[in-house]
Amino acid sequence: MIIAIPRETVPGERRIALVAESVKRLVGKKHEVVVESGAGLGAECSDDELRAAGARVESSVDALYAAADLLLKIQPPDETELGRLKADSVLVSLAYPLANPALAREVAKRRVTLLAVDMIPRTTLAQMMDVLSSQATIAGYRAVLLAAEALPRLFPMLMTAAGTIPPAKVLVLGAGVAGLQAIATARRLGAVVEAYDVRKVVKEQVESLGARFVNIDIADAAGSGGYAKELGEEAKRKQAEVLATHVAKSDVVITTALVPGRRAPVLLPAEMVRRMKSGSVVVDIAAEQGGNCELTRAGERYRTETGVTVIGERNLPSQISVHASAMYSRNMEKLLAHVTDKDGVLELDVADEIVKGMLITRGGDVVHPAVADMAM
Ligand code: NAD
Repeated sequence: MIIAIPRETVPGERRIALVAESVKRLVGKKHEVVVESGAGLGAECSDDELRAAGARVESSVDALYAAADLLLKIQPPDETELGRLKADSVLVSLAYPLANPALAREVAKRRVTLLAVDMIPRTTLAQMMDVLSSQATIAGYRAVLLAAEALPRLFPMLMTAAGTIPPAKVLVLGAGVAGLQAIATARRLGAVVEAYDVRKVVKEQVESLGARFVNIDIADAAGSGGYAKELGEEAKRKQAEVLATHVAKSDVVITTALVPGRRAPVLLPAEMVRRMKSGSVVVDIAAEQGGNCELTRAGERYRTETGVTVIGERNLPSQISVHASAMYSRNMEKLLAHVTDKDGVLELDVADEIVKGMLITRGGDVVHPAVADMAM
């Protein structure tokens, strides 16, 4: 099978879908890998390195798309990329088909099979191909570094001849994959960390990382597949009341709360941010999904009138492009191994839970039931 890796074209995207190490292993498994020239530069992976790993480096993007049996990407295709897709090829990429069913329709129209990597079920079996987890881990880490950089205070407690410096107080809202990594990173930097999540099952994980779990007396909101459910109005009110006191005494608030298929819940209304000390920092990892903070401006970092820095930068994993690419690439290797036979031929078993979850279009149709309902 010819696996093609185009250069990512979204502004600011520095990752590549396959790194040299993975190329080498895939070539060893009878695949042919074609990479667009320069595709790895943002992730410190040169054409020469990819060539040495066994890839063919192609300078014409049209030739690359024309050669592809399977196109491996990170960002969903834009209009130009859609126009280049070859009929009967397979596209593997992030696609967010529940939020953007129109894209699925466009891909189907071109008789391209779409495997959306953001739809891989969050199960133990699928863990090694779970790009949402691998990239969220990086986002959680990066968010803390952004906060530490923007905060005009130290994170660790220091006892020096020039005085004793108290540790920074960090509050993490949402203790899923990104949140847990944010807690661990903030602890490593010496901050005192508190965390809150609507799924009470994470309390133990939060505490095992050395953070304090904020208890709020509302019903557990654990939904299916390890995800959270949306809260009712009364629960939201209670949550806001308790969080307000914790937010007000925090130097840094990192928000990561998401609810599948919904806009991110607003956990930090403007009024709560106003009560934070001047110089405090909010990093909103959920910025691209609407934001957990009412004052977040997606893609921006700014200082509010009351002196709080609100960071809503997009695509945090891309800022750690080498390891984000390496982890994405490892996920893709596992995924390809799952959907190909021993001779490297693609075999999509629709009875398989993982394939069923991520197969969105095939043979000119939108075949994923939930997406098909929306794509009508
Ligand atoms: P996510 O990105 O959808 O959400 C992030 C966190 O926000 C979640 O922990 C969620 O409970 C929390 N949240 C939602 N609404 C909230 C609110 N109003 N207030 C506070 N917190 C709120 O989730 P995720 O990090 O991608 O994954 C969630 C869970 O899924 C993981 O913690 C894990 O248990 C499970 N998971 C399992 C596997 C596996 O078994 N292989 C893989 C990945 C994830």
